[in-house]
Amino acid sequence: MRSELSSLFGRLSEKVLSFLFPEYCLSCGRYLPGGGPLCPECEEKLPLNRNFCPVCARPYPEEAPPHPCGGCLSGRPFSRVLAPFLYEPPVSDWIKRLKFAEDLTLARVLSRLLRKHLPPDLSFDLVVPVPLGRKRLLERGFNQSALLARLAFGRLDKVLLRTRETPPQSELSAAERHRNVRRAFSVKDETRVFGKKVLLFDDVMTTGATVEECARVLRTAGAREVIVAVLARA
Ligand SMILES: [Zn+2]
Ligand SMILES: [Zn+2]
Repeated sequence: MRSELSSLFGRLSEKVLSFLFPEYCLSCGRYLPGGGPLCPECEEKLPLNRNFCPVCARPYPEEAPPHPCGGCLSGRPFSRVLAPFLYEPPVSDWIKRLKFAEDLTLARVLSRLLRKHLPPDLSFDLVVPVPLGRKRLLERGFNQSALLARLAFGRLDKVLLRTRETPPQSELSAAERHRNVRRAFSVKDETRVFGKKVLLFDDVMTTGATVEECARVLRTAGAREVIVAVLARA
């Protein structure tokens, strides 16, 4: 009985493990006896964000001594942006697959990659995902940023609300994006935010209009500091 139970348990935990860590490389499909998610060759080829603005993580085309980009010279509501990857294949394909196919195995893989490439001593009091509008949430069924944040950081503080629906940023020009998100967010309970160091999380950052507006609202509500973390930077 005992051995039957332990072998059943063994089979179950194997299933759980292969769900958590698929045995095939996510990128090239090669069998990985030691578990996934990526083989060393594919891990090596990931599009890392190597040369960037130390404040907003905007990628620079060439290697340069660290200097803030023009947009950061006049100050930002966040202290810095952590963006380990560039929004390029295969990372961009994985993010799209997570968003539109609701591939939850992928969510675990991406959250592991994120943790692995963020500073290990990163400290914060709250983890706040960029909220989706109600309509978008109903269409998609889940907020991919909230899902990734919970898996990567083990907590979720839903203190930000989206107060009005906005057209998708991807359909707008850079100037329109800032106008589009203005006054689109509010803090639900300011006492939870006051004096806190907030880690604001989104899956992708392009112009930064969305995270900038969220950070501004959090700082207005009394947050001591806002650090932005995103999986990929465009
Ligand atoms: Zn591979
Ligand atoms: Zn910058």
